[in-house]
Amino acid sequence: MDTSRSTGSGIGSLGSHLQELLKTPVVLVPDAGELSRDGGAYLLVVDLAASVSLAGKFSGQTLGPGRYVYAGSARGSGGIRARVSRHMRLDKRQRWHIDQITTGAAAIWAAEFMELGECDLIGILSGAASFSAALPGFGSTDCATCPAHLLRYEPATNLLARTRNRIR
Ligand SMILES: [Zn+2]
Repeated sequence: MDTSRSTGSGIGSLGSHLQELLKTPVVLVPDAGELSRDGGAYLLVVDLAASVSLAGKFSGQTLGPGRYVYAGSARGSGGIRARVSRHMRLDKRQRWHIDQITTGAAAIWAAEFMELGECDLIGILSGAASFSAALPGFGSTDCATCPAHLLRYEPATNLLARTRNRIR
């Protein structure tokens, strides 16, 4: 199995965009070793170069190529670092729905949050025009408030271009 990822097209301006929306410092790192061993919430930025067909509960559904943001929290031993390290590994037993996406990702970055919970993060981001629920209920089985814990990210310029195309 291929155990390395390409670096993809780079994270671009997403970090500063997230920082603006969340009103807290956002440091996106490509290596879980830079994250805290304490518990807390985290965001994963996941780039899909190709479509991923989902299995299990979401069988028959497909996520198209593009950039996604997933929110989670880690309370167990090893904290955020251990959890994100698992997310970033390609060779792992599929345990959560998100595993189907992380194993197919071209690139993954992560940021940690000590003051905000996973649902706070989703609540704020899903209110912004450039984020929308990727699949209703995805990653949020235990959550009564969020539309999904996986959001699709489309910068405003893309949305504008799509609207223009539609008008034409
Ligand atoms: Zn939630």
